[in-house]
Amino acid sequence: MPDFDYDLFVIGGGSGGVRAARVSAGLGARVAIAEERYWGGTCVNVGCVPKKLFSYAAHFAEDFADAARFGWTVGELGFDWPTLRDNKTAEIERLNGVYDRMLRAAGVELLWGRARVADPHTVEVGGRRRTAAHILIAVGGWPYVPDIPGREHVVTSNEAFFLERLPGEIVVVGGGYVAVEFAGIFHGLGVKTTQLYRGPLFLRGFDDDIREHLAREMRKKGVDLRFDRDIREIGKENGRLAATLDDGSRIEADTIMYATGRRPLTRGIGLEEAGVVLDDDGSIPVDEHFRTSAPSILALGDAVGRFELTPVATAEGMAIARTLFGGRPTAVDYANVPSAVFGQPPIGTVGLTEAQARDLHGDDLDIYLSEFRPLKHTISLNEERTLMKIVAVRGTDAVVGVHMVGPDAGEMIQGFAVALKAGATKAVFDSTVGVHPTSAEEFVTMREAVRGGARKAAE
Ligand code: NDP
Repeated sequence: MPDFDYDLFVIGGGSGGVRAARVSAGLGARVAIAEERYWGGTCVNVGCVPKKLFSYAAHFAEDFADAARFGWTVGELGFDWPTLRDNKTAEIERLNGVYDRMLRAAGVELLWGRARVADPHTVEVGGRRRTAAHILIAVGGWPYVPDIPGREHVVTSNEAFFLERLPGEIVVVGGGYVAVEFAGIFHGLGVKTTQLYRGPLFLRGFDDDIREHLAREMRKKGVDLRFDRDIREIGKENGRLAATLDDGSRIEADTIMYATGRRPLTRGIGLEEAGVVLDDDGSIPVDEHFRTSAPSILALGDAVGRFELTPVATAEGMAIARTLFGGRPTAVDYANVPSAVFGQPPIGTVGLTEAQARDLHGDDLDIYLSEFRPLKHTISLNEERTLMKIVAVRGTDAVVGVHMVGPDAGEMIQGFAVALKAGATKAVFDSTVGVHPTSAEEFVTMREAVRGGARKAAE
């Protein structure tokens, strides 16, 4: 074997790249990692972490309102955007330092600058070439904005985290995770919010009951949701933005945010020249051990785009390290990957939607649904309602999907993901004792199927 400078060279210091670098070094590999923007990647800097902090901030508006009927007198309310934005940024900078120190402590060599693959075993950073037995492409993705007239006026999630001023009115375009989360954040922070989605109902791919319930709840709270609508062009008038929609109507706002998906950052870094085949959208096809079409070059995370989720990227990084340096070829099991949409209210979901389950199992299903006002709101009189849903296969009794819209959905769904991984049946759910009084106990007390044939009444 030729003598390389490193056993592994990682390009990209996001969640997946950092995990692969750190664990590989821990297994004795000589590892370098290059990053050109920020340690921690999208999730830490312009994604999961700051978004969740903003999401907490947004929810206080309702918390203050809910407090009154619990006896609290809350003083005059005010919200200061720079305080939130700058405290968030300070926390992110602290995390950047944590990542830096964590990598160094693991013995990884950190390189700052744009990296380019020069050949299947060589990476160039800052004009200097280094060789490696394996190169890992962990470059992540970047917001995509469709090519419409006036696109130069819009912001994406990248900029939304650093806005100079909080807008008075915003239009959020898109119907995925980011659009739903930011519509909830801006609305909660007091911004007049319109969300436009090009299809008939947002969150395509999620369970239909969940999508409909969230749309109802968001509208109740005052978000102006408009479906089957898209922007044709955007102009600037008197310091404000004016969007012309596809039905000819106009909408004005201070800020227009596009959350219309993300694209891998895989172009222009020498991949194709080194023999790595890319898909049309820039994503990198890989085999079960994350090898690209160039055997010494691997890829993970958003650059591959199987699931654009941080915990999936870190699982992939771990699998790569174990496969290459741990003597344990490891694949990632993509079944039952849970996720949450931190909207207002949030969604938690794991497993198959009812529609997916029907495709696989026909009508051999039992669907359980529970829609209710949570206990807290019996006093607060907040009109928000929670929805919980279980999808089970009648023949095997297997629970194949658990979905929820309501407070703490993300926290709750993690445990149910374990249950699904373990192959829990509906009988196991039924025999599990609830925690009282919680919303979560509803998941173990739903006895009557609402669709797909009546289940025998509870024993
Ligand atoms: P998504 O792919 O989830 O959603 C993109 C949305 O934009 C869809 O509603 C899509 O519509 C719409 N869209 C795409 N192209 C156009 C276009 N040309 N014109 C109008 N609308 C368009 O992307 P996001 O940016 O929301 O998020 C990226 C990924 O990051 C997510 O898929 C998710 O995996 C991850 N993420 C996870 C989070 C979490 O775990 N909480 C939070 C944020 C992001 P259509 O459905 O019709 O195609």
